[in-house]
Amino acid sequence: MKVLVINCGSSSLKYQLINPETEEVFAIGLCDRIGIHGSKFELEVPASNFELEKEKDMGTHKDALEMVIAALTDEEFGVVKSVAEIDAIGHRVAHGGENFSRSVLIDREVLEAIGANNCLAPLHNPENLMGILTCMLLMPGKPNVAVFDTAFHQTMPAEAFMYAIPYSEYKELKVRKYGFHGMSHKYVSTTAREIMGKPEMSKIIICHLGNGASIAAVKDGKSIDTSMGLTPTDGLMMGTRCGDVDPGALFYIKNKRGLSDKDMDTKINKKSGILGIFEKSSDCRDLEIARAGGDVRAELAINMMTYRIRSYIASYAAAMGGVDMICFTGGIGENSSLIRSKSLEKLKFMGIELDEEANSVRKKGNVKLSKNSSKVAIYKIPTNEELVIARDTFNIIQGK
Ligand code: ADP
Repeated sequence: MKVLVINCGSSSLKYQLINPETEEVFAIGLCDRIGIHGSKFELEVPASNFELEKEKDMGTHKDALEMVIAALTDEEFGVVKSVAEIDAIGHRVAHGGENFSRSVLIDREVLEAIGANNCLAPLHNPENLMGILTCMLLMPGKPNVAVFDTAFHQTMPAEAFMYAIPYSEYKELKVRKYGFHGMSHKYVSTTAREIMGKPEMSKIIICHLGNGASIAAVKDGKSIDTSMGLTPTDGLMMGTRCGDVDPGALFYIKNKRGLSDKDMDTKINKKSGILGIFEKSSDCRDLEIARAGGDVRAELAINMMTYRIRSYIASYAAAMGGVDMICFTGGIGENSSLIRSKSLEKLKFMGIELDEEANSVRKKGNVKLSKNSSKVAIYKIPTNEELVIARDTFNIIQGK
């Protein structure tokens, strides 16, 4: 079984060819700067350690996908003889709205429903749709499956997903919390439950900390709350997104500075978060280096980030009536011992005890980071969103 996983963005297309049963990755790559001067194509074949990186003009996503197909089937370094060997295609789709609580086989109706959710994710859904249509055009007859960033969180109860604004905004405009990073939260919580011995009941908090960051409370395998909202801007302080902020403050800034909606969108999504406070970079590594050198703003940004993570952890433990395991994932969650340590500071009263030594050692794979005396297990679990897409695609075409 070979599933092609496609993650299509405005100017990029990430792809992987995976066997969902054995988890073998045959090929992994990226088409970058599509439609922009200086497009770049990357392919890596893990089995042979083959790597290819070349500048190649790709004006459209169709050009990019043609490059992917040509590379995968290349006589010299390709991994399949022809596209006939690809069994199905799994697509990451940003927003499934309330229409999709699980992954689905794509047909005309699904395409229309994804299109109807464009207003909820104007920057992502149209691009995801374009990726699907391009695959249908270039690889006709293959099953295509949509895997949604939001679907895993559709189990949230109404008291968690409703905003306290007039009910008509929910009824008429579908304004509510949807949550994102669903594939990552699903992968990490499934892995956490396996580590715990697959108990029927479990209370897990997942901190997905990357450029984009969100926390989820997963009770008995189901998401019951998460920190991102209608859009990915809400919740934690991120690389360039503000996270929680008083909506009144935004109106105040908008009016005082005479800004347009677009200006405000840029301010809260591209100029805030780490970048907004630190001002020199949005990257956590730069932040840590600057903090070590005594940079006061870097210190403030780290304190703000970790204060918020800690507050969410305590809040979600309260929402679930306890917590059995806390998991860290994403670029920061998997790699930054400082952020993990500071996020868990002061939580000893909840029985949360980090093993600072285990936390400071760099080890690959799933790693236990809690002391044996800790009432709550703490783990680092590297995420694998592509594997979730490949597994869901496999299950759907197998009729499971
Ligand atoms: P995205 O949300 O774009 O997928 P990633 O999950 O790749 O983001 O995470 C990117 C973030 O991870 C960056 O802020 C980067 O600085 C941070 N990061 C990666 N490695 C380390 C490290 N060793 N220490 C601290 N932060 C790291």
